[in-house]
Amino acid sequence: MLLNDPVTLLFIIIPFGLMTTLMLCLSYVGTRRHRAPLHWWIAGDLVLAAYRAVDLLQPGVVSPGYEWLGLLAPQTAFIANTGGLLLAISCHTLALHQLANRRRSIAWHLRMLLTPVLAYAMGASVLLHNVYMLSWFFLFCVLTIGLQCCVTWPLRRRFRGAWALLAGHVALLIFHADNAITLALAPPPPLSFDEPDMFSLPALAMDFMVSFLFTLSFALMLQEQLRQQVVQLSITDTLTGALNRRGAVSTILQEERRQSGSQRYPLSVAMVDLDNFKRINDQYGHSVGDTALQVFAQTVTRLMRKDDVFVRWGGEEFLLVFPGTDVQQAQAFMKRLRDALDNRPRTAELPFQIGFSAGLVQTAAMNSREDFETLLRAVDKALYRAKQVRGRVEVVEAVDL
Ligand code: GH3
Ligand code: MG
Ligand code: MG
Repeated sequence: MLLNDPVTLLFIIIPFGLMTTLMLCLSYVGTRRHRAPLHWWIAGDLVLAAYRAVDLLQPGVVSPGYEWLGLLAPQTAFIANTGGLLLAISCHTLALHQLANRRRSIAWHLRMLLTPVLAYAMGASVLLHNVYMLSWFFLFCVLTIGLQCCVTWPLRRRFRGAWALLAGHVALLIFHADNAITLALAPPPPLSFDEPDMFSLPALAMDFMVSFLFTLSFALMLQEQLRQQVVQLSITDTLTGALNRRGAVSTILQEERRQSGSQRYPLSVAMVDLDNFKRINDQYGHSVGDTALQVFAQTVTRLMRKDDVFVRWGGEEFLLVFPGTDVQQAQAFMKRLRDALDNRPRTAELPFQIGFSAGLVQTAAMNSREDFETLLRAVDKALYRAKQVRGRVEVVEAVDL
C-alpha cells in the first residue's frame, strides 16, 4: 500500500529509512569499542529517528491514502517532535562529553539531560496555548546547541572531526538564533494546526544530511580516539604509568622540535637506579618490589613539573628529563625526591626505605637522536660513579654535543 505513491516512496520513506539505518550502523560500527560514548550517541540517533517518525504520524502529512498513519494530533506531534530534537542534541552532547574523558557523576548526567527537557516542557505548555511563542523553541535550541559547542570546543585539538562538528553546530546555532530573533521581533500569524505542517523536502533532506554528517564525524572521532589510545599504550609502562623507552625517544625528540631552544635550555637529564633492589625482591617478594616501583613512580610524578619527562628506562632504572633546568635546579629536585621518599610513612606493605643513586648531566643543546645518545652515555657514566657509593647523585656539569 505504501509503495503506491512514488513521491512518498522516493522522497520520504526511502531516504528516511536508509539514512536512519545508515546512521545507526555507522554509530555502532564506528564506536562499538567505546561503550559509554557509543550508547549516548546511539540514544541520540534513536531519538532523532523517533523525532522524524513523529512527523510522519500526523494526519495528512504523508499523501492521501495513508490515513492510517495519522495517529497523532498535530499539536502533540509538534510538541513531541521539537522536544525530541532537544533531547537528541542532549544525548549527543553527553556522548561528546564522554569522548573528552570527563568523568562526572550520574547526577550530573541526569541534570544535563533533564535541564533542556524541563525547560522545554515549560516552554511547550506555553507553546500549546500560544503558538506565537515559537521563538521559545528556537531559544531552547540555541541554548542546547550552545552547550554542545562548549563541550565540543576542547576536543578540537585532539580530533579533526571536532572541527566539522563545531562548524555544523555554529551554522545551526546561527540558523536557530536568527529564527528566534525574527519571530520575537515580528510574531507571525498563529500557527494553524488545521492544515498539516507539510515539511519541505529540501529542509528534510538538509536535516538528514546534517545529522548524518554529525554521526560520521563522531564515529571518526571515536576511531581516532581508539588510535590514540593504542599509541598511548604502546609508549606507556603498565606498572608505573611512566613512558617506556620507545615513548621516551619519540616524546623527547618531538618536544625538541616543537619548542624553541631558548625556553628549553639548559636541559638536565638524570638517570636514576634504585639501590639494592634485588635484595628487596629477595627479602619481601616480587610483588612488594612492584609496589616499591609504583610508589617511586608516584612520588616522582607528584614532584615533577608538567614539561618534565619521566621514563622507565628498564627494570628499576628511570630517566628524568628536565627542560629549562640547570643542574643546580635538577639537583634540588633530586633532593626533594629523596626527602619525599625518606619521609614516606612506612606501611606494613612497604616497611623499608626506597633509596636511589643517580647520574645527572646538563646540556645547552640537543638536536638529534645522536645527541640524545651521547647524553645518555654521559649520564650512564655518572650513574656508574654514583653507584660506587650508592645513595648519591653524581653530576656532570655540562656535556658538549
Ligand atoms: P644496585 O644498588 O647496585 O643497583 O643493586 P640492585 O639490586 O638494585 O641492582 P640489580 O640491577 O642487580 O637488580 C635489579 C633488580 O631489579 C633485578 C630485577 O629482578 C629487579 N627488577 C627489575 N624489574 C622489576 C620489576 O618490574 N619488578 C620487580 N619486582 N623487580 C624488578
Ligand atoms: Mg639497582
Ligand atoms: Mg639496575
